[in-house]
Amino acid sequence: MSRISHPDKPSALKTRFAPSPTGHLHVGHAAAVWAVWDDAEQDPSRFILRIENIDETRCRPEFESSILDDLTWLGLSWPTPVRRQSEHFEDYKTHLENLTARGLTYPCFCTRKDIAQESENAQAAPHGPNGLIYPGHCRHLSPVEQREQMEAGTPYAIRLNLEEALAQTGHKALKWRDAVKGPQETTPEILREAIGDVVLARKDTPASYHLCVTYDDALQGITHITRGEDLFFATHIHRLLQEICGFPVPTYHHHPLLTGPDGRRFAKRDKSLTLKELRNKGLEPNELRHIIAQRQIGRLFDL
Ligand code: GLU
Ligand code: ZN
Repeated sequence: MSRISHPDKPSALKTRFAPSPTGHLHVGHAAAVWAVWDDAEQDPSRFILRIENIDETRCRPEFESSILDDLTWLGLSWPTPVRRQSEHFEDYKTHLENLTARGLTYPCFCTRKDIAQESENAQAAPHGPNGLIYPGHCRHLSPVEQREQMEAGTPYAIRLNLEEALAQTGHKALKWRDAVKGPQETTPEILREAIGDVVLARKDTPASYHLCVTYDDALQGITHITRGEDLFFATHIHRLLQEICGFPVPTYHHHPLLTGPDGRRFAKRDKSLTLKELRNKGLEPNELRHIIAQRQIGRLFDL
């Protein structure tokens, strides 16, 4: 893979790789992490590793140690200690409480089934690129109704009140830049049609990906975010959260996802293509890098 040079790359560039330890890394992750490493100019002081393990039902310590082994095998290094999100729930909680104090959130007591039902009943149930948009039932609950549900012990998530967030940002289009795709805008229309009232804290976890990732990127001074284009739409919500929180706006680089010979993305089920397996078969990291750069993924099945 050739080193990509971005003309707009600031001199103090800092970027990150932020895996969730829910399985072993596979060849798709190797392509992704090398994209980050190249954007960091292969300089360990510009490359942060962060472990995004708030989902305690899916993340496991053995996957975390296997991630560290795999990245070391690939030849990468990073500053320590590594931030592990599970150690910072108190900070995320305080951050969320600040948003709540500003009227930017509400509790949502809906079950998945309720949401599917509400969407069915709604005139035009909008679907975003990431699935159903929350139709907004709980946004209209009165404080008394909220209290009743809480006292009855109904589990709840915390959602962003998108309309309130738009009001507080003056409904303006929020600018950001993708290093490859060029200037981008997050508009109220995109946020309403593609995102809606996203979850900031889940029923089973007192935080969410969107909440933690924007908080941590700001806290860790990340100036450049390199990640797969499957997260392109997530960037709109992150851009809005940055605006309401007064966080700096990084540059983004959304890269295409690596696909297999059949055109499908890699998934955790493709066991033969985990980095651990490939390493055990005697593959060297520079060979792997060459195979990925040449998009000759089929060769990996013949090792
Ligand atoms: N933990 C997220 C993932 O593994 C990170 C996404 C990001 O880079 O923002 O998908
Ligand atoms: Zn609800």
